[in-house]
This record gives sequence, C-alpha cells and structure tokens, in this order.
Amino acid sequence: MAGGGLTGLSAAVFLAWHGVQSVVVERHADLPRRPASRAVNPRTMEVLRQVGLEHAVMRHGDARTKNPMSPCTAVSIAQDRFEGILRDRAEALGAMVCFGTELRSFDASADSVTATVVDDDGEYTVEADGSDDLGFPVLLGRRGRPRWQCRAAARPAPRTAR
Ligand SMILES: Cc1cc2nc3c(=O)[nH]c(=O)nc-3n(C[C@H](O)[C@H](O)[C@H](O)COP(=O)(O)OP(=O)(O)OC[C@H]3O[C@@H](n4cnc5c(N)ncnc54)[C@H](O)[C@@H]3O)c2cc1C
Repeated sequence: MAGGGLTGLSAAVFLAWHGVQSVVVERHADLPRRPASRAVNPRTMEVLRQVGLEHAVMRHGDARTKNPMSPCTAVSIAQDRFEGILRDRAEALGAMVCFGTELRSFDASADSVTATVVDDDGEYTVEADGSDDLGFPVLLGRRGRPRWQCRAAARPAPRTAR
C-alpha cells in the first residue's frame, strides 16, 4: 500500500482481517499532526465494529446523537487519532507498516509485485510473490540481506472482535 493515511491504513486492517497480509509505506516519518477530518459516520462505525474497532474509536472520540437508521453511533474524532487506532490495529493483525518510507516505483505481473522504496537508510526492493514460507513479502536490502526494521507483529493476531 502506498500511503499510510486513512485509505492505506484502513485497507491494511480490512485485508489483514481477511487473512491477507500487506506492507504499508508512508513517506512521512509519523502520523500527521494537522487538522483534517473530524468525524466517523455511522456506516463506517458499522464496518469498524466488524473488525473490533468500534469501541476503540468511541473511547478516543465523542459519540454524537444516535441515528435510528444504524446500530452504531457517529463519533467525533480527530483524523490523526483515528489513523493511530487504524495503524495499531493493522500492526496487531500482522500488517507491516513502514513510516518514513516512500514508494518510488513498482512493477506488477500476474503473480508478483516488486516495489522500490526509499527510507533514510537508502533504497530497498520489496518483493511480494505470495510464495515464501512466512506468507509475508520479503524486504531485501541493496546487498540482498533480509531487513526487518519496520514496526510489525510477526504473526497475525486472533481475529476476535472487541
Ligand atoms: C482541513 C481538512 C478537513 C477535512 N475534513 C474532513 C471531514 O470533516 N470529513 C471527511 O470525511 N474528510 C475530511 N477531510 C478529508 C480527509 O482528510 C481525506 O479524505 C483523507 O485524508 C483521505 O485519506 P487518504 O488516505 O485517501 O489520503 P491522504 O490522507 O492524503 O493520505 C495519503 C498518504 O499517502 C502518502 N503518500 C503519497 N504518495 C506516497 C508515496 N509515493 N510513498 C509513500 N507515501 C506516499 C502521503 O504522505 C499521505 O500521508 C478533510 C481534509 C482536510 C485537509
């Protein structure tokens, strides 16, 4: 996933929930500390409930007036807080989330993807062919040494909703 904003982090959570592991690269060093979206609507809260995130979002935000059309309540929450919750959940479910890492190019074929990413330490190649024993993409350094520097859980967490 190129980009660790709402879209990339959400995609990592939902894919991991369905057993598909991913690598998220985000060129910024950390979550943005800027004002952006301020609310999560009831439909989004419904899908967050399915992946065990409804209560975490409610804990960190302020519930709005209940809408009778949904079992869930809209929540006021700052985007950076929401992104932090998504990042933690993505990692807990086994996604590899790499901040300070920019996607420079990628090449996709029918059964594999090779991406070139750059961080403070240099340029790396990420190969994801779905066939390695770990069931995980392999992150290779310039000299071909395996490199596991990203904050990520090694194993997917059990898929139980909170
Ligand atoms: C002031 C403001 C107020 C807003 N208010 C609301 C609101 O009230 N409600 C609402 O629903 N929405 C609101 N929005 C919109 C909401 O913030 C966006 O819809 C949301 O951020 C989009 O998420 P995204 O992940 O698609 O994109 P982004 O948040 O733009 O994230 C994309 C990420 O990709 C990264 N990236 C890009 N290229 C690369 C690359 N090559 N390699 C690595 N990383 C890369 C960028 O650094 C960025 O972090 C607001 C936006 C702003 C600015």
